[in-house]
Amino acid sequence: MQEETILLSFSLFEKTVLRSKLYDFDENISLDGLKKELIFEDTKALIIFSDGLKSDTELFLNKLHDICPDIMIAGGRAGDNSAFKETFVFNDKNSTDNGCIIATLSGDALIVNADYLLNWTAIGKEMVVTKCKGNIIYELDGIDILDVYEKYLGKDIIADLPSSCMSFPLIMQKDSLCVARDPVGVVENKALAFAGHFEKGDRVRFSFANIGDLVDNLEKHFNKLLKYPSEAVYIYSCLARKNLLAEKLQDELNLLASLANSAGFFTYGEFFQSRDANELLNVTTTFMILSESKILSKRSLKTIPKLAVDPIKKALTHLIKITTDELEQISTHDSLTGLYNRAEYIKAIERSTASAQRYDESFGLILIDIDHFKLINDNYGHVIGDKVLQGLAKVLQKSIRSDDFLARWGGEEFVVIARHVKMNELEKLVKKLQRNINKIKILDLPKITASYGVTVYKDGDRNESLFKRVDNALYVAKDSGRNCYIIG
Ligand code: GH3
Ligand code: MG
Ligand code: MG
Repeated sequence: MQEETILLSFSLFEKTVLRSKLYDFDENISLDGLKKELIFEDTKALIIFSDGLKSDTELFLNKLHDICPDIMIAGGRAGDNSAFKETFVFNDKNSTDNGCIIATLSGDALIVNADYLLNWTAIGKEMVVTKCKGNIIYELDGIDILDVYEKYLGKDIIADLPSSCMSFPLIMQKDSLCVARDPVGVVENKALAFAGHFEKGDRVRFSFANIGDLVDNLEKHFNKLLKYPSEAVYIYSCLARKNLLAEKLQDELNLLASLANSAGFFTYGEFFQSRDANELLNVTTTFMILSESKILSKRSLKTIPKLAVDPIKKALTHLIKITTDELEQISTHDSLTGLYNRAEYIKAIERSTASAQRYDESFGLILIDIDHFKLINDNYGHVIGDKVLQGLAKVLQKSIRSDDFLARWGGEEFVVIARHVKMNELEKLVKKLQRNINKIKILDLPKITASYGVTVYKDGDRNESLFKRVDNALYVAKDSGRNCYIIG
């Protein structure tokens, strides 16, 4: 870690061809010629350095993804050590304070891997972005964002926004990626600008650095990295991360430097490729590991000096984490059966319909209602009724796959989202549920049966339309004598 100094890093490649070009975005964001001049059959990686203040990073990352969706990216936005005054990038001919330089690495021998470290822990309830424009958020859950920050982080932080709350970035899940967003400015005294875009409906939570976890996770992460051949590591780490972790960040850099020679800089945003998009990250250390040979050199972790972590701070963050987990369990699960509750079902079905639309997938929905359950309560009492509900929940959980979703819809009704199935597989599943439920033995109770509404996702379905179909189907199943399923 260096400050106020000029640092030159050189990489020499033996079998890899490098090409690069500067793009000025003053007129418009265009990546003309990229495909023709820089990208070839054997191009394996793109390294991108952009200015840190002016260009619309996400727009050009999206354009880049349209041009070459399958080539791994790395790099970051230039920083000026928190001055937020001027940043630029340059090559041998030109420079720009609103643009980027893209370098492509091509060659059959080149092996490229990339990953990132975040390890921030979500805390508190999930909030929905209800009013936003680009990178500016006005409201969370319909409440002015500054009021939300004051409520959760205290009065004092408002005077010093945004730097006062950099330790508590908002985080959200984007596919498999956990993305953090730090505020970078206050807009018109009523909104916050972030180092990255939001969309209405995004779900965010506050987060904090779980200091104990950060240190403990490092070694685990290193062992994962050992399987990559590595001759060079390029590291792009967020300036906010450096400000927050201070000397503890050195542990991370040491870890990466144990793999191979390393070089990089502190960014105002890191570039990373997820399953189907190029993402702008904040607060992370991203890195790209390169090698021109498959041979795995023998490496060991430069011993991490177990930096003295203040034991009270460590215990406090641990306490916060465990308490948050417990509260989360209470608010997302049903206390009698331990299954997810209805609110979680709504979130799950929204995620499933969104992903079905996007990836052209199919999924199934089953609504289950115990037959004549009232009689069990009436004849044997509520305690036994509860035992039946618990037993049934267990049987359902055992009968579905681990990536399926099961919730208690309410009373004696349960709902299953079966992922990646078409109707014939869904019918097999509902028959299995029926068989297993019929086998339940609780005391000397008569055979337990249930009725089922069954449906699969159809193009354009929303939560409401899907539920209406299974609910109607269930109604018909009840009407046709119970202990059967009806397809809706
Ligand atoms: P049907 O075959 O038409 O579904 O008849 P049913 O008796 O199962 O349906 P109904 O809706 O008339 O009754 C549902 C009963 O479930 C009534 C309610 O007291 C009982 N119930 C709901 N939640 C619980 C619970 O948590 N524990 C117990 N023991 N009973 C519950
Ligand atoms: Mg019912
Ligand atoms: Mg019932």
